[in-house]
Amino acid sequence: MPEGPEVEVIRRGLAQHLPGRRIVDLTLSNKRVRQQSPRSELQRWARGHCIERISRRGKYLLFHLDQGATLLIHLGMSGRLLLFQTTAPPLRHVHLILHMNDGWELVFQDTRRFGQFLIYPPGVKPPPLAAVGLDPFSRRLTPDWLLGLAKGHQRPIKNFLLDGRIIAGIGNIYASEILFAARIHPQTPVGQLSREDWQRLIKATRRILRAAIRLGGTTIADFKNGQGEIGNFHPQLKVYGQAGEPCPQCGTPLERLVQAGRSSFFCPRCQPPPSQPQG
Ligand SMILES: [Zn+2]
Repeated sequence: MPEGPEVEVIRRGLAQHLPGRRIVDLTLSNKRVRQQSPRSELQRWARGHCIERISRRGKYLLFHLDQGATLLIHLGMSGRLLLFQTTAPPLRHVHLILHMNDGWELVFQDTRRFGQFLIYPPGVKPPPLAAVGLDPFSRRLTPDWLLGLAKGHQRPIKNFLLDGRIIAGIGNIYASEILFAARIHPQTPVGQLSREDWQRLIKATRRILRAAIRLGGTTIADFKNGQGEIGNFHPQLKVYGQAGEPCPQCGTPLERLVQAGRSSFFCPRCQPPPSQPQG
């Protein structure tokens, strides 16, 4: 599943190529993804309009069109965006194609169909954005803000980090990496974290996400054969997926546990368990 850094890399790749191009037509498949606007609405608000810029909130990509409409795309579990300098070849699981004025095509492919593409008329703020939390790089994200939010709460820090309504765009993989870097056990109740813990956590979050974006930036589409696949890169991971391997800091075998149905990976020595038992 693409996380915030991957979506940011995709945004940067698209932003190099799409602004200034006009959408002349749209093709939709007959199978629906999780959420999509009706064909007539997409045609009405997108056809004939230039893409002015592309922004991101959490894992949502926002295509701002010249008359003020917004096309929102979420890649869900398995969505991919492919950019072609010519007519796209026939591909499976394609749900949306944007045809550009100069023959370029942007293809949204989604095998598991958890993705979303929704169009909003000029002046309408996309409602899904109301539930998107702070950007990890936002100045409003401070130790004091998190301390206040977490006070008295027993929720494990891992689940707190994954809650996109608080901090946007941190997925399961980076959550393990961030907690390892901040030396915090994934089951620690958020109410037990000190100001210094939150400070370390914010720093680790920004360092890890920035490194992931930089890594992805080196793998942006180079248009071999006129096709650019954007944002498909493998982050450098220290603990995720590596239970039983030695901790890169201290050599202790890394461990895995399951929280809210998702795997967490950690070092039992570098990330000591919380003082009270917690599930
Ligand atoms: Zn360790």
